[in-house]
Amino acid sequence: MIIVVFGPPGVGKGTQSAKLSAHLGIPAFSTGDMFRAAMVEDSPLGQKIRSFMDAGDLVPDEVVNELVASRMVQPDCADGLILDGYPRTVAQVKVLEGWLAGRKMKLDYVIELVVDREELVKRLAGRLYAPTSKKTYHEKYAPPRVPGKCNITGEDLIHRDDDKPEVVRHRFDVYTKNTQPVLDYFAADGRLSRIDGMKNIDEVYADILKVVEK
Ligand code: ADP
Ligand code: ADP
Repeated sequence: MIIVVFGPPGVGKGTQSAKLSAHLGIPAFSTGDMFRAAMVEDSPLGQKIRSFMDAGDLVPDEVVNELVASRMVQPDCADGLILDGYPRTVAQVKVLEGWLAGRKMKLDYVIELVVDREELVKRLAGRLYAPTSKKTYHEKYAPPRVPGKCNITGEDLIHRDDDKPEVVRHRFDVYTKNTQPVLDYFAADGRLSRIDGMKNIDEVYADILKVVEK
């Protein structure tokens, strides 16, 4: 089963993908997490990726498509995969669908999470990130057991550089311009399920399960 979790920055894609992954027993793949890991390396690719991410711009399609294709052929994806943050452009969807069609596979579900702008800003402003475990928390909505520390690894939690208000504004613009058109593409063939993301984490999750387990 291949599931795409879709929506603007801060909507809850990573949070819900992690829960779904644990429940369905298939991996969740966040392109953002993958790029953050690559950025830490001081390689030419790492530096290139950093320049896009720090500015809140999209990493070029060829880089992303190659990364996702190499992830999807790993043995742990044999029963499926949850895609968090991909595809984010119409060009990415087309490459993905071509890749899947060539293997007699398809995207089974596209879950669009919907949250208003004011709430997205609050979620991003309070988001805390554990760079090693890649777990996400929120100062108020999903606090760690010990303030400032990851529940799993105990590592220090950070605010992501691209969650600064000026970068966030730009990321919303990029979403509207480059990513929103992907929704029209999915909406056209009835695979898109819109979920109210304004509810609390467990309520949103329950609504997603109703779609993927129907
Ligand atoms: P968020 O979940 O807040 O939307 P992500 O962690 O998914 O953020 O992504 C962070 C950054 O990683 C993006 O702003 C972009 O620079 C890069 N990125 C992630 N996924 C993609 C993608 N599919 N295409 C291009 N760039 C991407
Ligand atoms: P995305 O991957 O779409 O950028 P995240 O899953 O990282 O979004 O969530 C953004 C922030 O909002 C995180 O701090 C997370 O803990 C918090 N969050 C996620 N879902 C909810 C929700 N339903 N209600 C309140 N806060 C949420």
